[in-house]
Parts: sequence; C-alpha cells; structure tokens
Amino acid sequence: MLNLVLFGPPGAGKGTQAEYLIEAYSLLHLSTGDLLRSEIAAGAKLGLEAKKYMEKGELVPDEVVIGMIKGRLEANQDANGFIFDGFPRTVAQAEALDKLLNENETPISAMLSLEVEKQELINRLLKRGESSGRPDDQNQEVIENRINVYNEKTAPLVDYYASFNKHYGVDGMGSIEEIAGRLKQVVDTL
Ligand code: ADP
Repeated sequence: MLNLVLFGPPGAGKGTQAEYLIEAYSLLHLSTGDLLRSEIAAGAKLGLEAKKYMEKGELVPDEVVIGMIKGRLEANQDANGFIFDGFPRTVAQAEALDKLLNENETPISAMLSLEVEKQELINRLLKRGESSGRPDDQNQEVIENRINVYNEKTAPLVDYYASFNKHYGVDGMGSIEEIAGRLKQVVDTL
C-alpha cells in the first residue's frame, strides 16, 4: 500500500500535483481543504464552524479534521493507497494519522514536500483567486496569514517525518510537468 503525504505551503501546487499522482499510482485523494469546502457548500454544521477559521486563514481545530480523515479511511478500506493533501498540518494531526494507519499496519510511505519561494506562492494564490471563487485566495492579508500559520504550525512536520526518514524535499518551481516528473522520480524509488 502506498500512502503519500503531499506537503507544502498554500499555493505550492499540492492539489494540481495530487491529480497527477492519483492517476499515476491509482491512489485515493483525501484533501481536508476540499472536504471542508464541501461541508460548507452543503450547509452542514461542521462547515459553518470551519468557515469561521478558513476565512481568516487560521487552522480548523485538530479534532474536526482528524474526525473527517478517520471517517474517510474507514469508508475506503479497500483503497490501493491514499494521498493526503493539506493534512496533516500540525504535529498532533500527524500523530493521530500515524495512530490510525498503524491500526491497519499501513504506515505513511513518504512525505513529498514541495518547496516554493514565498513571492511565487502569493502570486499563484492571487491568480487562483481570480477564478476559483475561494474567498481566502482573494485577500492578500488572509494569504499572508495562511503562510505565517504554515511556517509556525505546519513547517515543523518536515522534522517530524525526517525523524522517521520519510521526508523528501522536491523543487516546486517550474512547469507542472517538470514538477510532476520530479515527484514521480521520488515515488518510483519507494
Ligand atoms: P491551501 O493549502 O491553499 O491553504 P487548503 O484547501 O488545503 O488550501 O486549505 C484551506 C483552509 O482550510 C486552510 O486555510 C484551513 O483553514 C483549512 N484546513 C484545511 N486543511 C486543514 C487541516 N488539516 N487542519 C486545519 N485546517 C485545515
């Protein structure tokens, strides 16, 4: 079973590259951002609660996202493997994920960390905001806050996965195809 964490700051291209990896390795895509946005669209209670955090660029509480992931793992026990996109985002989430996966003896194979310069992230997010309809991509202050929250709470996960020899840094600058090629090179060595 191939279980990949696709990691990187907001705007690093996780969603775009996830599409490619799903196709190449027949994996199931679990994006907490997408799951939260569908809860909002459905007018669900969980969505209403999450929206307050998302529109400010803050993290949704750990127990909310961990609960969502737990449900998806249980509902898809026959999957070939998973690609986790936008999750985990805190050390507590990473520990909870390890615990859930260890129960099935299907640990994380690798964390693929897309590395992109800050100004490029801001440019990409503002550009995405022109067409995505995502309010959090249309406000420079919210974007900067998401990057700060990433640096403070999420970036430490690089050390977490490195301590298990599972961290792979991948250059996230360049064309979509170039970056996909770099990711494939890493995954094929696993
Ligand atoms: P991006 O990576 O571009 O910020 P996402 O779709 O991954 O976009 O996340 C959008 C927002 O959803 C985040 O700013 C945060 O508020 C919330 N969110 C998504 N995933 C998580 C998570 N694992 N933990 C806490 N909050 C999350």
